[in-house]
Amino acid sequence: MIVMKFGGTSVQHAVAMSQSANIVTSQSAQKPIVVLSACSGITNKLVQLSTAIISNHKFADTIIAEIIEHHRTVVRELSVREEIRTQLQVAVEQKIEEFTTFLKGITLLKECTPRSTDTLLSFGEFFSTSIFTYLLQNLGIKAVFVSAKDCIKTTRDFGRAIVDYEASKQSILQIIPTILEKADCIVTQGFVGSFEGITTTLGRGGSDFSAAVFGYALSTQEIQIWTDVSGVYTTDPRMVPSATTIPQLTFDEIRDLSVYGAKVLHPETILPAVKSSIPVKVLNTFRPEDKGTVIHTIPMKSIGKAKAVSALKQCLTFSIFVPIEQESEEVLHQIIPKLQKEGIPIFILTLTESCIQFTTNVALEDVLPLLQNVKYLFYKTSLLCVLIESQLSTRSSIIKSIESFDILQVSINSSEHSIVVICKEEDTVPIVTAIHATII
Ligand code: ADP
Ligand code: ASP
Ligand code: MG
Repeated sequence: MIVMKFGGTSVQHAVAMSQSANIVTSQSAQKPIVVLSACSGITNKLVQLSTAIISNHKFADTIIAEIIEHHRTVVRELSVREEIRTQLQVAVEQKIEEFTTFLKGITLLKECTPRSTDTLLSFGEFFSTSIFTYLLQNLGIKAVFVSAKDCIKTTRDFGRAIVDYEASKQSILQIIPTILEKADCIVTQGFVGSFEGITTTLGRGGSDFSAAVFGYALSTQEIQIWTDVSGVYTTDPRMVPSATTIPQLTFDEIRDLSVYGAKVLHPETILPAVKSSIPVKVLNTFRPEDKGTVIHTIPMKSIGKAKAVSALKQCLTFSIFVPIEQESEEVLHQIIPKLQKEGIPIFILTLTESCIQFTTNVALEDVLPLLQNVKYLFYKTSLLCVLIESQLSTRSSIIKSIESFDILQVSINSSEHSIVVICKEEDTVPIVTAIHATII
């Protein structure tokens, strides 16, 4: 068994879906569990709809029409046999009916609660998976549609539900192997789970995580993440076009990169895969012959230089001044519990005699009320993560490459495989480009 996850761009329209279906077909002998995202852009539209449906009916109607039209167009443009097209049309029209009935309910209630929002968001993945199942059947693959709600069991923290690994493993083991005895593959939704039968979602980009939970539960041979780039690159190719694929990475390295902005993989994906030492491959749907990146648990041979740099933009770095008559620890105890109580994540915290500096990625208005009794400065920043080897020469060449910039902080991770740099947000691209020049 293997897990194959296809992201939003890999199922965005009829052409991409057909390409993804061909990739599944080529590996059908391995009994894939196919985990799909919603078509690219649909989850964003559903998020907009969750507020517009209460406050702006005209805008809501436009979004609803766009979502419906998008899926009808995909069905229209797919090249499938006539009998499959009829079944596909019936299935999609049924989904549309379910979607519009659900929306009527919300409009009547005049409230879109977090619980309803999760059900609303899950429609994106239910649309894409219904279509994809028929597409595989058209290619002669015995594909069975399974609802992720029956498999992925979570807490009731709507919008960012936490997966119960053991309960999910139990359900997955009860459902999947029996179906796969008679079928070639399973098609299911990423991002979606349930709490006592109520739909939950795992947070944006959560389909990677769903894939890893299936891999963990079934101890699959590997987890393939199919996306629109050929693996994990030396940096975000949209920021620095000369970025290239890194053939191999360890789980620790990819965790640091993805936490600090390498959007190519959801950070938590790593955890279930690490638990069962399953290799994760990141591959390009539109260039399936490219080797991509393999992520392993075992450390790899040193390459003697930095490997990659990622950037988490839209952060805020606060410097709090410690009054002369106070100890910095006293001020720290005053502030940190307040931040924790409000669930404000702290990425990096430093403490000196006269200053406390911390970096977070929430909105300014969420932090300012908590800093009423202290003197502070703040900057809009980016957090950069540079993967390094432990040699001193690597570290010094990175530090040299950024010496002409106004850097707020550099810290070398105790695990010694990364350096974290805090810079002003407007300097992100030139600094990433300068660091990247030492990598390639
Ligand atoms: P999907 O819809 O398949 O889940 P995502 O948009 O979530 O795809 O992730 C793929 C994108 O991640 C790429 O198009 C790329 O722009 C971005 N990205 C950011 N950092 C990196 C990196 N270091 N390597 C590869 N891609 C990256
Ligand atoms: N469709 C969801 C999102 O856009 C989940 C995913 O694609 O991973 O966030
Ligand atoms: Mg993604």
